[in-house]
Amino acid sequence: MPNKIIFCGDPHGCFANVISAVHKYRPEAVILLGDYNLEMPLENYLQTIIGTTKIYWIPGNHDFDSVSEYEYLFYSALSYNNINLKVIEINGLRIAGLGGIFKESIWMSGSLPKWIDKKHWLKYKPRDVNKIPLHLDNAIWYHEFEKMKKNIRADILVTHEAPSCHRHGKKAIEDLAQAIGAKKIFHGHHHYYYQDTINGIAVTCAPIGGAVNLEGELLLKR
Ligand SMILES: [Zn+2]
Repeated sequence: MPNKIIFCGDPHGCFANVISAVHKYRPEAVILLGDYNLEMPLENYLQTIIGTTKIYWIPGNHDFDSVSEYEYLFYSALSYNNINLKVIEINGLRIAGLGGIFKESIWMSGSLPKWIDKKHWLKYKPRDVNKIPLHLDNAIWYHEFEKMKKNIRADILVTHEAPSCHRHGKKAIEDLAQAIGAKKIFHGHHHYYYQDTINGIAVTCAPIGGAVNLEGELLLKR
C-alpha cells in the first residue's frame, strides 16, 4: 500500500495538494517536509484533514524567517507533531526526521563544526543576545546530528536538506540514513521532483507544493 504514507514537499503557503492528497488517497499519515511560510497557525490551513489522518512535520529553513512564521508553526496546535531529531512509527515503519539546513556559521557537513553544542555557542554569544537567534535556529547542529546518528534506528529518513545525489546535497544525509538503517530518504528544499539511489538508499525529492508516496511516486504536483 504505497499511499499509506504521503510525503509533501515545501508548501510555501499553499496546502491545497496536502489536503487533496489526504482526501484522494486516505493515507494513514502525511509528513510535511518544511518551508511553510505560514500567515496563520498551521492547524488553520489543515482544518479539513485534522482528525482524518496523522499529520507530522519537520521544519525547513524558511520557517525561521520571522517571529510570526516561527510561532505559527512551533506554537501551533500541531507543534507536538514535529519529528525533527525524533523517530515515529506508522504501520510498523519507523520514520526519523531531520529538519533545517547546514550552515557555514554552525556546521557545514564535511568540515569541523564551529561549535561543540548550543551551550558552547551561547557562551560566546554577543552580549545583547540571550538565546539562539532565529536565523541560526534553522541550522543542523553537529552534536544533535551525531546523537541522532548514534541513537536512532529507522526504516525511512525524512529531511529538508538533500543527500549528495542532488548537486546541492550533502553526503552527511546519506551517511545518516545509512547509520540509522534507513533504506529510503524523502527530502524537500529543492522544489523539483526526482528519484535516485545512493549507496543502495532510494532517494525522492517531494516537489514544491506536491506529494509523493512511499514508493517515491509523484502523486500531485503544483
Ligand atoms: Zn523551499
